[in-house]
Amino acid sequence: MDLGLTGKTALVAASSQGMGKAVAMGLAREGVRVAICARGRERLEATAEEIRNETQVDVFAQTADLSKVDDITRLVQAAREHFGHIDILVCNAGGPPPGNFLDFDDSAWQAAFELNLASAIRLCRAVVSDMKARGWGRIITITSMSVKQPIPGLILSNVMRAGVNGMVKTLADELAPYGITVNNVMPGSILTQRIVSLAEHREEEANTTTEEILDHIAQEIPMKRLGNPEEFANVVVFLASERASYVTGTAIQVDGGRIRSAW
Ligand code: NAD
Repeated sequence: MDLGLTGKTALVAASSQGMGKAVAMGLAREGVRVAICARGRERLEATAEEIRNETQVDVFAQTADLSKVDDITRLVQAAREHFGHIDILVCNAGGPPPGNFLDFDDSAWQAAFELNLASAIRLCRAVVSDMKARGWGRIITITSMSVKQPIPGLILSNVMRAGVNGMVKTLADELAPYGITVNNVMPGSILTQRIVSLAEHREEEANTTTEEILDHIAQEIPMKRLGNPEEFANVVVFLASERASYVTGTAIQVDGGRIRSAW
């Protein structure tokens, strides 16, 4: 299938490693010029170079802390100046710290809001007018399966992801008449640094090893394994494509069947 993506431009947030990087690489393999970002320059530049070398597409990389409004403004402005416009926006960010309800004060809730909900709102706000004027756009958010099934011990994530999903559903309705689709993709357990860090966090309290925790998670998944970032990225790339023109307002899990509910 020709995805019809050649020559498009994308901004993929939080993309020096993990799922963001896999999405940027997946889009670049389809001929999309990609803008990537992360806080640290070194790994970001290395990722940009890797994508350029493999795909020969134009990759624009800029450091940005997605929990800071000014960084988001600068990032979108610079990407737009570089490419002329942004066709595809992929909202992603690092995950908030694990913990239970009484572990967090207002400042922790505020930080999670800035990183995981406000960043998505701000990124969308920065691109939507231009997409409307051009009559074409794709917005995809990366959240978590916790939108459908909250994960114990990840209350900050559970609450913020639900907020993002609410925004997606509302925006999809508002933007559909302008040729812009808005979808949410929900990872289950994808083997990245994030899931290894969460397992390391549980290692001590569960008196076990990271490998055993990851293996335990795998046993809860019908496919009996964690997903890899490319498997996740394939779904995002399809949603970003011309071929997904009638898919909007959805929340799609990529979880190896882990969520058992029918809806
Ligand atoms: P990862 O740790 O492998 O990669 C995160 C990326 O975000 C990195 O490039 C990092 O540099 C960047 N980043 C982190 N904080 C940032 C900030 N403040 N500003 C800019 N860039 C920042 O993580 P991942 O597994 O790819 O996860 C991506 C998102 O998906 C996270 O929000 C995570 O919580 C969520 N998630 C992951 C899984 C999973 O199984 N891996 C499951 C559910 C949800």
